[in-house]
Amino acid sequence: MKTILYAFTALLMMTCGSSKIEQTTTLGAKSRSTAIKKGEGPFTDAERVGKIMNYLASDELKGRDSGSEGIEMAAKYIENHFKPNGVKPYFETYRDTLSNFEKPSFNIVGIVEGSDPALKNEYIVIGAHYDHIGVVKAENGDDIANGANDNASGTSTVMEFARYFGTRKTNKRSLIFALFSAEEKGLLGSKHLAKKLKEQGLNLYTMLNFEMTGVPLQGKDYFMYITGYDMSNLAEVSNKYAKENLVGFLPTAKEFNLFQRSDNYPFDQEFGVPSHTFCTFDFTNFDHYHKVGDEADIMDFAHMAALVNKTIPVLEGIANAPTQEIQKK
Ligand SMILES: [Zn+2]
Repeated sequence: MKTILYAFTALLMMTCGSSKIEQTTTLGAKSRSTAIKKGEGPFTDAERVGKIMNYLASDELKGRDSGSEGIEMAAKYIENHFKPNGVKPYFETYRDTLSNFEKPSFNIVGIVEGSDPALKNEYIVIGAHYDHIGVVKAENGDDIANGANDNASGTSTVMEFARYFGTRKTNKRSLIFALFSAEEKGLLGSKHLAKKLKEQGLNLYTMLNFEMTGVPLQGKDYFMYITGYDMSNLAEVSNKYAKENLVGFLPTAKEFNLFQRSDNYPFDQEFGVPSHTFCTFDFTNFDHYHKVGDEADIMDFAHMAALVNKTIPVLEGIANAPTQEIQKK
């Protein structure tokens, strides 16, 4: 997630008379399914998710800084996941070159066309950023910010959704799977793509983004939250298809305006359609935001797999409903 600055100004002024001090803080930030037939196991599992995570967040990729060799390796890895799983390039290739960043950087964009002759002309973007902040100040000899939770987790999640729909083709509306670059530079990849798709006249229904899904929420009666909770009925629609209280409201997400801090936001701005980020980072359940300790070995792969499996029927329900039921409030 893009860096969030927030001020303890008032508190600090009272306690030590300091002038404005800003602290950078942490954020960056199945098995029930209509699609998964009786007798079949869940679609994905901790092992599969872990394999993707262990690659994307490995030291070899050096923190996936936009324009670096490390993120190029991640880009190839995502392409090699899309191709055999029936996800076609959205443009001529999977690569969408950013027009707003100085180093060569690419979003990876694939499509699974809808099966319904009419509904396939309506599009849903399912996204996550795959870049991170690269090499940072060393702590205990480690200078690689691996970005496991931020955002190899969301990337793995979207890669598994892409594999599901690419191989099963159960979607009536068309699904665009977008892995964004340069989110950490200021949502640049998503800004670029949202603008381009708008200029090309894309008939976008909704944008669903995944960010920091690597560790579970604690002590909540819901599994994940969405940013911009009260801006649309997405939570209600999601819970209807999940048949459980899957998506809830996190007050601190609103307090810190996370709605504007991830790749859903440029789509909201360009298209004015419901655009939200799904997340399980709540400021208290993870201490390594934008630090070298954000490593794959502290991620909860079983949680991540559960998130994918629980969300598949939600995406399928939204993609197949006869009308566009997600509405802005
Ligand atoms: Zn981040």
